Amino acid sequence: MVSFKQALDFVFGQTNEQKLKKLLPLVEEVNAWSEKVKGASDAELAAKTDEFKARLAEGETLDDLLPEAFAVVREAAKRTIGLYPYDVQVLGGIVLHQRRIAEMKTGEGKTLVATMPAYLNALVGKVHVVTVNDYLARRDRHWMGPVYEFLGLKVGLIQEGMPPEERKAAYQCDITYGTNAQFGFDYLRDHMVVSEDQKVQGPLDYAIIDEIDYILIDEARTPLIISGPTKETARMFKEFARIARLFKEGEDFEVDEEHRRLTLTDQGIAKAEKILKFENLFDPRATLALHHLETALRARVFFKRDRDYIVKDGRVIIVDEFTGRLMPDRRYSGGLHQAIEAKEGLTIQRESQTLAQITLQHYFRLYKGLAGMTGTAKTEETEFKEIYGLDVVQIPTNRPLIRQQLPDVIYRTKKAKFEAVADEVARLHKEGRPVLIGTTSIEDSEQLSKLLKRRKLPHQVLNAKHHEREAQIVAQAGRLGAITIATNMAGRGTDILLGGNPEFRARQEADPKEEPEKYKELLEKYKKEAEEERAKIVRKAEPNSPYAKRCLAQIKKWCQETGRPFRPEEWKDGLYEGGLHVIGCQRHEARRIDDQLAGRAGRQGDPGSAQFFMSLEDDLLRVFGGERIGELMDRLGVKEGEPITHDLLTRAIRRAQKRVEERNFEIRKRLLEYDEVMAKQREAIYALRERFLLPAEGKPPDVEGLMGYLSEMIEEYAELLTERYAPPGSTPEAWDLPGLAKALARLSEPAPGVEELSQAERWEGLVEKVKETLQAQLHRQRERLSPHFPIVARLVLLRVVDESWRQHLLELDDLKEVIGWRAYGGRDPLVEFKREAHRLFQEMLLRAEEEALQFLLSPKLSVKAAPPPEAAPVGVGKRAKKPSPPKKEGSKSKVKVKAKVGRNDPCPCGSGKKYKYCCGRNK
Ligand code: ADP
Repeated sequence: MVSFKQALDFVFGQTNEQKLKKLLPLVEEVNAWSEKVKGASDAELAAKTDEFKARLAEGETLDDLLPEAFAVVREAAKRTIGLYPYDVQVLGGIVLHQRRIAEMKTGEGKTLVATMPAYLNALVGKVHVVTVNDYLARRDRHWMGPVYEFLGLKVGLIQEGMPPEERKAAYQCDITYGTNAQFGFDYLRDHMVVSEDQKVQGPLDYAIIDEIDYILIDEARTPLIISGPTKETARMFKEFARIARLFKEGEDFEVDEEHRRLTLTDQGIAKAEKILKFENLFDPRATLALHHLETALRARVFFKRDRDYIVKDGRVIIVDEFTGRLMPDRRYSGGLHQAIEAKEGLTIQRESQTLAQITLQHYFRLYKGLAGMTGTAKTEETEFKEIYGLDVVQIPTNRPLIRQQLPDVIYRTKKAKFEAVADEVARLHKEGRPVLIGTTSIEDSEQLSKLLKRRKLPHQVLNAKHHEREAQIVAQAGRLGAITIATNMAGRGTDILLGGNPEFRARQEADPKEEPEKYKELLEKYKKEAEEERAKIVRKAEPNSPYAKRCLAQIKKWCQETGRPFRPEEWKDGLYEGGLHVIGCQRHEARRIDDQLAGRAGRQGDPGSAQFFMSLEDDLLRVFGGERIGELMDRLGVKEGEPITHDLLTRAIRRAQKRVEERNFEIRKRLLEYDEVMAKQREAIYALRERFLLPAEGKPPDVEGLMGYLSEMIEEYAELLTERYAPPGSTPEAWDLPGLAKALARLSEPAPGVEELSQAERWEGLVEKVKETLQAQLHRQRERLSPHFPIVARLVLLRVVDESWRQHLLELDDLKEVIGWRAYGGRDPLVEFKREAHRLFQEMLLRAEEEALQFLLSPKLSVKAAPPPEAAPVGVGKRAKKPSPPKKEGSKSKVKVKAKVGRNDPCPCGSGKKYKYCCGRNK
């Protein structure tokens, strides 16, 4: 029975406090077990894994085991890596086990949190721990590995460039660390292989995603793509770039910046019709030209060099709008990238064709269980809930957060803003406080760097290019007087310790394994130095100062959250101020990104502060509310170079951000609906090709199943074929029997002649005759090509399915481009897209069936043993890189199909092209 309370929770949702309250008893249980396992010997502790597995086999559930298992991991972590998870970390671990999102602030130790649910879930399936870059995957695997290994579990690591055998081994471990891209690409590659043995990944049981907001929200618009080369039309892009220059904003087209929309005016339409030589621009035949024109205009109006992209070595490189990171592997889709290249007068890069693609959201939805952690999820709670069914729980910090958020300051111009930031940095530097300055673009980082140089301030600039090296630098960003400029992603996942990180420093001079003595000595030395530096960075706060009062208010709130009594006396005398100061050079569209930046300061109860500097020229203010603030400044008589600042303004800006967030959510939701169509089709195709894969070594080949499948295909195809020459239900006068006889002769030997066919009196009888003929041919083929037929059939089916799917992807891409323009006709493009996509998919399946049967039934089909065929070159991401072709093929697959193929048949060389365009070209 559902209680009233539960029903109400369902309607209104629970407050975070309510969620925590429910979880606290579980933490108590873990604590009770923790006391009990303290006395266990190492061996007793390690034996727990087998005991748990046995108990699971007897019917206990993971939830039953949780308290004890978490306690065991806790103890193992203490004994191996010297970290004993705090209560709040246990709490986070429980949330992850419950397939929810744990929001935990920076520095709270999320890496360790993941070990508890990872261990528990590895008792029943495979666990993937997903990080944002290779460096972090490697770091976390090596850092946390000993905990799992102590308990008898195997831990694997996936890194870019690893060969398939190593990947396979890593996936066979109980727990595997890797990045989202590696996991996603392996999934795609696993669905491009021909035999069971070539798959690497294994089941998708349970994943814990670190920085889940980055993966599921910021990366929402960028799919993982495996691609190969295709034809290019460089000249066309150049031509449209030239034409676009003839169009004037305000006259020929209008721009809606808020929605990033661009519309042709009547004058513009007339102009386009004249230049493109179309009588009516909205004629279906003109859609493509119109699309290219629009793309060329968008490339000019919305995409700014050094903001949205940079030009480097003759290439256009995308700058991630959220993080300012360079994305050399990515290309804008739908011809936009080429349009930008054309605009910049660069060589048009050869466009590549998509062979397989998946968005990260769809990939992660394939897991049976999904959980995530991040410092910032609350602002996007609705999105996580609505789209992924993931609930967000905010975990209280281990120690109270006393970071001071200073009110925003707004300048009139960007220039004045950056000067002010540089002055502020100089002021703080004099006090010895470490400063971290966050920018949203490389351009801004460089501009600021120049200003700091002019003031002779030593500093570091990070662009999220070299994860490992930047992690080293960020780790030292908390040293006395350190100045660090970083884009959002730079050094993500690395903790900033006040006074610096002694371990990082010691490790730079001595390898702890090779020179343990020297390392230890250095570590002690740097630890002392860090302590001394820290003492200079923080200072005791006046107990009754306004600062102390603010801190106490924050501490009171923390006590409430964690269910502790609040006694000001306990805290009053131990308050510190100073610490790391964070300056944001712009407020971002999403509050979440700002919070991530500010969250770098004030970790684990440290003092710290953060402030954002803005200008009316910033994107956010240009679009939202900047004008009103400008008017206000006029009225107050604020001069150039002078800022205004007020809590009310800060709040108004947060409101503007909320509006943008909501708009972006709507856009993502809409895009997701488009992706949904492709996702469903992809799942259907992958399920289909799964049935055709060559069985793994040692597994029985399911020949009867395969024959049954082919026989069903024939039933369907026979009707289709007959219909071409004899409309369904028609009488013999309407039949083109010579045509049908000819078609059958290509598919079967012997085949019925006109005379034999004409014996059928009704249409159904004719179909029956065709079916019989083809079924008989199928069995003849099986005999004739024995024992190779099943393998040949599987290979042919796979090749045809893959090639058809590849072409279908291309068609879907085109459809997506074109469909937008149907909105002109007042129709809902999404509905149109779904309908069209469905139709194309059905057609594709029929064509594939026909192609496969024509090949397999062909009397000319012959087989001879030969070395395995090479896979066609494909690229991963957008880079034209050759991944290793499938290394090992089952000996059974060493068969080459040789037939006098028809010119329209798929080429037997495996290129996927039609024979006449491939090896048959000169014949
Ligand atoms: P996050 O990813 O949440 O920012 P990390 O996993 O990088 O945090 O950990 C931050 C720091 O906290 C690390 O230096 C780690 O050693 C330390 N830490 C984490 N958990 C504990 C713990 N239970 N006890 C002591 N130190 C811890």
